[in-house]
Amino acid sequence: MTARTIFKRIIDREIPAQIVHEDDLCLAFVDVSPQAPTHVLLIPKKEIASLDQVADEDAALMGHLIVTIRKLAAQLKLEDGYRVVANCGPHAGQSVDHLHFHILGGRPLAWPPG
Ligand code: AMP
Repeated sequence: MTARTIFKRIIDREIPAQIVHEDDLCLAFVDVSPQAPTHVLLIPKKEIASLDQVADEDAALMGHLIVTIRKLAAQLKLEDGYRVVANCGPHAGQSVDHLHFHILGGRPLAWPPG
């Protein structure tokens, strides 16, 4: 059994977070180290370590997350556009082993990323 991540502890309300959305399947909260005026993390409540660990049976959950991103973008008033990032593994700089989507917006975002 792997150790509980900081995101699991946020789900379990053991540590605080600025939650902007919650439903049965997922949770969204403000990133503690924002890289843009709006920087929210969307996570499934199911403990999935990364995109690499998404199972076939998670397809409906993943669809729910994508639909939730669209709703969150409207809620967060990101009408000028936004970026969704899922860092996967060490080369991408993933630092928390619980699947998460960064939703970034509120300013123009450069491309390509570093
Ligand atoms: P990544 O580097 O893609 O794994 O992203 C992890 C993100 O989690 C980083 O942007 C961190 O700033 C963010 N983070 C870490 N701990 C917390 C926390 N307690 N509350 C909110 N965001 C956090």
